Amino acid sequence: MSDDSYPMHQCKRCGARTRTGSPCMAPAMRNGRCRMHGGASLSGRAHGRYKHGEFTKAAQEQRRRLRELLKLAKQFLDRA
Ligand SMILES: [Zn+2]
Repeated sequence: MSDDSYPMHQCKRCGARTRTGSPCMAPAMRNGRCRMHGGASLSGRAHGRYKHGEFTKAAQEQRRRLRELLKLAKQFLDRA
C-alpha cells in the first residue's frame, strides 16, 4: 500500500458531540473516538505498560493478606 492510497487527512474522524453541538472531527483511534473522547484508559493486562502483574491491585492485596496472616501466626506462637 503506497502512502497516497490512504492519505492521513481522510482517516476516520471522531464523532463525539462537542459543546457547540457539532461532531468533534479530530482523527479517530481504532475505537472510533479521538484521543480526547476515547473513554477510560486501559488497566491490567490491557494496559500498554503491563509487565508481570506484580503490582496489580489483586497481587498487592494478596501480599497484604499474607503478611496479615503471618503476623497473626507469630502472635499466636508468642502466646503459646
Ligand atoms: Zn473527539
